[in-house]
Amino acid sequence: MDTKTQSEDMANYDDDYDYYRDFWLGHGREYENLSEQLIIRKLLPGPGRYALDIGGGFGRLLPLYARKFEACVVLDYSMKNLKRARTLAISEGMTNLLLVAADAAHMPFSDNFFDFAISVRLSHHFEDPESIISETSRVLANGGCFIFEFANKRNFKSILMWIAGRQKDVPFSISPKLIGKNIRNFHPKHINSALHENGFGHIKRLSASNFRLGILKRALGPGFLAKADLVLSGILGLMYFGPSIFTRSSLRKNERPPQNRDECFLNNIFKCPACGRSLAFDVEYPPDKKINLLRADVLPSSFKCGDCGFAISEHDGIFDFR
Ligand SMILES: [Zn+2]
Repeated sequence: MDTKTQSEDMANYDDDYDYYRDFWLGHGREYENLSEQLIIRKLLPGPGRYALDIGGGFGRLLPLYARKFEACVVLDYSMKNLKRARTLAISEGMTNLLLVAADAAHMPFSDNFFDFAISVRLSHHFEDPESIISETSRVLANGGCFIFEFANKRNFKSILMWIAGRQKDVPFSISPKLIGKNIRNFHPKHINSALHENGFGHIKRLSASNFRLGILKRALGPGFLAKADLVLSGILGLMYFGPSIFTRSSLRKNERPPQNRDECFLNNIFKCPACGRSLAFDVEYPPDKKINLLRADVLPSSFKCGDCGFAISEHDGIFDFR
């Protein structure tokens, strides 16, 4: 896959486009937002140590999961998004959050590190979602839980449009459906096989945003529709009915988490995205082992990989691995 193209696509979020302002704020997506949040709450695992939000944007989903974990990492390609996530975290009084600007297909994290990963509204930016799924499989520990959302090309509306001759793409073909220049919808079989090939099993599927029609949204309101979604999400998930499918799966692998992972999070989490060398630090933890991760002064503001010289910098508490 051409990751440069994909990275450039994501970097557009830092130019004129503002994901929060131009997509979510006042754009009539309250229903989709609510539907996704209710479904994620239903899928979340129990409390754990380390969570990773891949393509976490401005932290829209943070309030749902951040308090269940000792430390959470939000990874996004856009600094603009991550700055908003930081402001949101501060306003919510969260301190267990590490913000990282990096490519989701080359994550700067150690193998077998996280207990939970979530990726929502990210895969449609990728030519092949397998690049995210295989990276997630690398950084998740054995038994780790993964919530992965994808845009579903064979949703009910697409099938009707195709039957009516108003859509060229065949919803039952496995190839991704390209929307505009760089948004892709995927066939559920494509996603299922990528999950299975990368060690994920026990896959549960819920269908979200099933009633994404302006007339319904106006007549019934986002709260009612989102609750109806939640009730029907399981049965509609089995039919791949909606435009957005949430999967929850668990990872089976033989490797073990790095030694000392649980004692010193910051000293073990990073790995050079270019050469794979571990980026070890010597952060001194206070006796209660709690560090305010939003305060970046525990790590140097710029550092280089000792092997390949890859440079990492820090701005406003956000670590930049791009
Ligand atoms: Zn390196």
